[in-house]
Amino acid sequence: MTTTTCRSCGAPVIWVEMKSGRRMPCNAVPKKMIAIDQFNGRLGFMVSVYESHFSTCPNAKEHRQRGKNGNGGD
Ligand SMILES: [Zn+2]
Repeated sequence: MTTTTCRSCGAPVIWVEMKSGRRMPCNAVPKKMIAIDQFNGRLGFMVSVYESHFSTCPNAKEHRQRGKNGNGGD
């Protein structure tokens, strides 16, 4: 897993490939959450989940506007 930084806010992110084949930036620092066993509804266990960076990035709007916005320069 390679950590990179978000181009718009500078937060550390990792890129995850979804089953759909789409790549998705997630926050590099996972959240600890409790998952509940689906068969035994009282049995919980700790899992680390990676949250989509789109939901936490303060500049998420910029991510959506692909195209002219990004690779300017030169
Ligand atoms: Zn960001």
